[in-house]
Amino acid sequence: MKNKKELRTWLDDMQLTHPLVIAGPCSAETEEQLLKIAHQLKNTDATVLRAGIWKPRTRPGNFEGVGEKGLQWLQKAKVETGMMTATEVANPAHVELALKYDVDMLWLGARTTVSPFIVQEIADALKGTDKIVLVKNPVNPDLPLWLGAVERLYASNIKKLGAIHRGFSTYEKSKYRNNPEWQIPIDLQNRFPDLPLICDPSHIAGRRNLVFDICQTALDLNFNGFMVETHYDPENAWSDAKQQITVDTLVQMMIDLKVRKKQHASEDYLFELNKLRAKIDVLDDKLLGLLGNRMKVADSIGSLKKDNNVSILQTSRWNEILGKMILQGEDKSLSEEFILKIYKAIHQESINHQKKIINKID
Ligand code: PEP
Ligand code: MN
Repeated sequence: MKNKKELRTWLDDMQLTHPLVIAGPCSAETEEQLLKIAHQLKNTDATVLRAGIWKPRTRPGNFEGVGEKGLQWLQKAKVETGMMTATEVANPAHVELALKYDVDMLWLGARTTVSPFIVQEIADALKGTDKIVLVKNPVNPDLPLWLGAVERLYASNIKKLGAIHRGFSTYEKSKYRNNPEWQIPIDLQNRFPDLPLICDPSHIAGRRNLVFDICQTALDLNFNGFMVETHYDPENAWSDAKQQITVDTLVQMMIDLKVRKKQHASEDYLFELNKLRAKIDVLDDKLLGLLGNRMKVADSIGSLKKDNNVSILQTSRWNEILGKMILQGEDKSLSEEFILKIYKAIHQESINHQKKIINKID
């Protein structure tokens, strides 16, 4: 697949004056719930109503979705509000039903994109459709797998395509439910600048108070829109209760977000600068995360040394690290002077951490 202008015509045709907003509950729960949320969203920036009908749960025993009847509610919401509708499809049977109830946008979930077999089955079931099909990134940080799913759909003559970034699963705890790894959607955008790219801040965040900042970063990185989980009673939602926001919050968020639009050619420079600054912010965030993790390991080393009565400073080990880093730095065009400065500072902080542990009275 090559980048093609036609990839974004469906979005251009919407003629939106703001980023695309797909909003609605994680799951359709009851007819009243879905219709109430749809009516709340009706006169907002949200163009598309989302609702999960079949819920892929990591562990069994959680709410697994209402099934086909939810599609009837979605269709009713479409008739009553004029909004477009969207739901997740995870196999050909879902596709058949979603088409039967005239769902406008179908998305492949993160647990589906990981499997080329299932993606191919869905692509076959959707062959030639003029529905919009969005592909969430796979749960693991693997760009070719994400692209491969988009390509399978494109090869099935589906031309209204888009990608949704929902973050990547990690074993290590982080402040996010799914790590954004922004470099991956940035790489995707560089390869396919005309493929609409939508951010799902809800599944990245896992907590509603992080949703706004993630949306702002996505806008700064030139994303085309959002898919945001919204509910009138988020705390009591049947799935993903911690990350859903109210429609009022969504409306306020759309007011507060800064959309950096390029209006004149002379603004090219500022537009580019903002994009690059957003990339720097993403890297700084990562850098601090890594330093924090490094110090946690230093704490564990401190405990081990304490238990075994070993002194903090092990000169040979320190010289070994420094030599290795100077060599690696050279490969990355980082001067020896810089590596020495930065590693001395890191080493000092590490010693301070270990000292604190060793001097702690049990
Ligand atoms: C969802 O959108 O509710 C969902 C299950 O998302 P994901 O596939 O990103 O986990
Ligand atoms: Mn969800």
